[in-house]
Amino acid sequence: MLFNRQTIFHYLSFLLVLATMPMFASCSSSQAANSQDVNDDILHVVATTGQIGDVVMQVADKRVKVDVLMGPGVDPHLFVASEGDVNRLQRADVIFYNGLFLEAQMASVLRQLGERKPTIAVAEQIDPELLLPWAAYSNAFDPHVWFDVTLWMRVVEVVRDALIEADAANADVYRANADAYLQELADLHAYVQQRASELPAEQRVLITAHDAFHYFGRAYGFEVRGLQGISTAAEAGAADVRDLANFIVERRIPAIFVETSVPVRTIEALQAAVAERGHTVAIGGELYSDALGDANSDGATYIGMVRHNIDTIVDGLKGER
Ligand SMILES: [Zn+2]
Repeated sequence: MLFNRQTIFHYLSFLLVLATMPMFASCSSSQAANSQDVNDDILHVVATTGQIGDVVMQVADKRVKVDVLMGPGVDPHLFVASEGDVNRLQRADVIFYNGLFLEAQMASVLRQLGERKPTIAVAEQIDPELLLPWAAYSNAFDPHVWFDVTLWMRVVEVVRDALIEADAANADVYRANADAYLQELADLHAYVQQRASELPAEQRVLITAHDAFHYFGRAYGFEVRGLQGISTAAEAGAADVRDLANFIVERRIPAIFVETSVPVRTIEALQAAVAERGHTVAIGGELYSDALGDANSDGATYIGMVRHNIDTIVDGLKGER
């Protein structure tokens, strides 16, 4: 049977309509999505700790929305994500966390999120050769890398590269901001070295509530002792208090230090044990260890926290506080 021209024309028109219908449908739905996203095209980043959140803010300036899960004084070793925190993590485009088991209670939720979106353990991007061991576990590293400013500079590069990957349109801004911030951190590292050098080597003994300061000790030449271990999850026992009190008496240590994210009673118990042994040890001040301070404090930023800590430590050990 032969088709006449009109039949063929109708048939082709029908095919054309069929072929174009899904195209129109997809056009209209993507337009709807775009109009919904008009005020929401900015990258959403969630950071676990304030230190990491500060790096993101320094590198991204106002190009991304940064949400920090752990506020001032919050202990990351013990932090459990609430339902609201999990919702924030689920809505994020990119997640930065410390890793190396700092956020021990969040390990499974972060692992699940990592299957769906960029979820970056910043400290785990540092060359393992530069990491210190976590003595209580085989094959684990001390997570407190931010206390060595040169290691934290590596984290700035990690954040910069991840932001560029997620938002290439702003790559030049991220590079320029990261360069400027890295220069500030190089100056900060020199400042900490210079202040540390005011103390003779034998006076550089830092005693705090938990073992957060080993990277600080290695970088700036301090002998470091914590009453609790690397994690605050295990309470200090009577034997830990006794051993450290004896050490303080033997070495005539003038000052010990409180941490903002660890209850003060830990250090007060140590101070009392030293007093029982006939030696007076001062509380040399409060250090920002695992959390930043509130917005009006010295510890509101990473740079502020590091400066506050070295000033407090050096002045405390000189007996100037
Ligand atoms: Zn810690």
